Amino acid sequence: MRFAELVSLFGELEGTSKRLEIRQALSDFLAKVEPAELPAVIYLLQGQLRPEYEGVELGVADSLARKALALATGLPEGTVRQHGSRSGDLGDTAESLWGEGKKLASPPLEVKEVYDRLTRVAEAKGEGSQEVKVDLLRDLLTSARATEAKYLVRLVLGRLRLGVKEMSLVDALAAAFAPEEGFKEARAAVEAAFNVTSDLGEVASRLATQGLPGLAGVQAQVGKPVRAMLAEREATLKDALDRMGGTAALEYKYDGLRLQAHFSGAQGGPVKLFSRRLEDVSAQFPEILEAIPSSLQKGPAIVEGECVPVDPVTGELRPFQEISRRRGRKYELTRFQEEVPVRLVLFDVLLAPEGPTMDRPYPDRRARLEDLVGVTERIDLAAREVVRDLGSAEAFFLRALSDGCEGVMVKSLATGSTYRAGARGFWWIKYKREYTHELADTVDTVVVGAFRGRGRRAGRYGALLVAAYDAEREVFPTLCKVGTGFDDRALKDLTRRLSPHELKEPPRDVVSTLVPDVWLEPSLVLELRGAELTLSPVHRAGDGLLRAGYGFALRFPRFTGRIREDKSPEEATEVKELLRLYQTQVRHAEAETGEGLPEGGKAPRNEKGTPPDGTESP
Ligand code: AMP
Repeated sequence: MRFAELVSLFGELEGTSKRLEIRQALSDFLAKVEPAELPAVIYLLQGQLRPEYEGVELGVADSLARKALALATGLPEGTVRQHGSRSGDLGDTAESLWGEGKKLASPPLEVKEVYDRLTRVAEAKGEGSQEVKVDLLRDLLTSARATEAKYLVRLVLGRLRLGVKEMSLVDALAAAFAPEEGFKEARAAVEAAFNVTSDLGEVASRLATQGLPGLAGVQAQVGKPVRAMLAEREATLKDALDRMGGTAALEYKYDGLRLQAHFSGAQGGPVKLFSRRLEDVSAQFPEILEAIPSSLQKGPAIVEGECVPVDPVTGELRPFQEISRRRGRKYELTRFQEEVPVRLVLFDVLLAPEGPTMDRPYPDRRARLEDLVGVTERIDLAAREVVRDLGSAEAFFLRALSDGCEGVMVKSLATGSTYRAGARGFWWIKYKREYTHELADTVDTVVVGAFRGRGRRAGRYGALLVAAYDAEREVFPTLCKVGTGFDDRALKDLTRRLSPHELKEPPRDVVSTLVPDVWLEPSLVLELRGAELTLSPVHRAGDGLLRAGYGFALRFPRFTGRIREDKSPEEATEVKELLRLYQTQVRHAEAETGEGLPEGGKAPRNEKGTPPDGTESP
């Protein structure tokens, strides 16, 4: 196909913003393209050379394009620059210069030729690559007509901007290659294949060569990110459980970065990590790349999970914001790896070594995931429980909060609970409590134990176990572990002050279910800040005051830097104060969201149809 034909479509598309017209123009055009050329045409229409997740960039800057233009027209670079700054668009400049500059006679450009040369432009890397790019571009421009030059320049600068959305291409492909009466079905099939491959070029090529049946066989492939399955929400846990027909699996809802890990299976073979937006983020998480082969062992596999920051010493979850510090970092990765280590908590499998799993119901996928994954320090499985009543669901939700999660995912166990790429439905329901504020007040806590530091903190305490004071029982029940907010000097200083108080046995007046590396006689009071108080089955402060078997825990605790020298251990925050703080927090949460803390079913029910019990999305 002549490049001029594609360019004329570019012009047509640029002239309209009406969806129907765009779709019509696209489908009329695509129907004429040779199957072998379709992928190139599809990518070029999107202003790309490859599917977006491959991140292929032409790497052409304005100055380079100007140089190529000058060489192709025989005009001085200064003239090109002048025109450029007048028009504000180097593409328009190219088109207008074609009238003035010297133009060589040459055969018309073909789409394939343009695509191949642009690919070489993109591939030129490293020393001398700028010259190579200029030469390639000059050659292309030399063979181009005026309008072709305009769009070529916009293409290489990454500024084609035809407004062709992925979904318009999905529509157009279905219309071009499916029989008239079957458009709806064809569209669903094209979209489904796109959701699994994220590659419209591949979808188009299959459609053109094998028709709709060719799409039926599209499966998840290692190296191609699958569009993420998304969750609906409900206002209360009761609503969520009701919708599932009273029985569901609950999983912790981890607050981090969703990652899809692709593992080819060959030891030492490539592992790729894709974000929810299908970007290749492998380079940002070297420790996960390294951990995947030893955890999965067998491949090929595609697994999905949430990448969460963890405390380097206690291994507990840290707030999501800490992981965002690592995003987009190319340098200092080692330092960030040490300061903000991450763990990938897996919750689904899309491709298992024995075959594709997306069409299997969730309980089956979960079983396969458990089979496949070897839990390591870096790779874990999402905490999960099948619940059949509201009481157990609430207890699980509280556990999720006290373990640092933001809520729970309620997952359907029905036979229709397949992995629905790119779709949002009630097969997964998220239920979380928003916490927008820090706890209004600080709390003063007594140090009762310590965990040894690792890495840069080796040889000192890395984190502390702290307690509140229960005046009635005259004991120190634990409130949290804290490893954040200490700089190196503070830790060194605290280790020096606390180590003389080390004990072999737990102090008699300390109540704890956790066992630290060393016990410390209660002596020092530290001021802490935290996101909120949660009910916890692990910590013992205020045990049973609100709920049997649960104490209060401080979520995301942080040392403020103040040692309360003025306070004796018995003057630390009392459990009765914690109760008041917790109640204030409940009132705030209710005022803000109309939703209370987890007593379940308090908020108004919403009316959203029936629970999933069959194979259709509810
Ligand atoms: P949201 O981003 O609030 O719409 O919640 C959905 C997101 O929760 C998903 O995209 C995942 O990134 C994340 N998530 C955390 N834990 C889980 C889990 N156990 N199952 C599914 N998604 C989870």
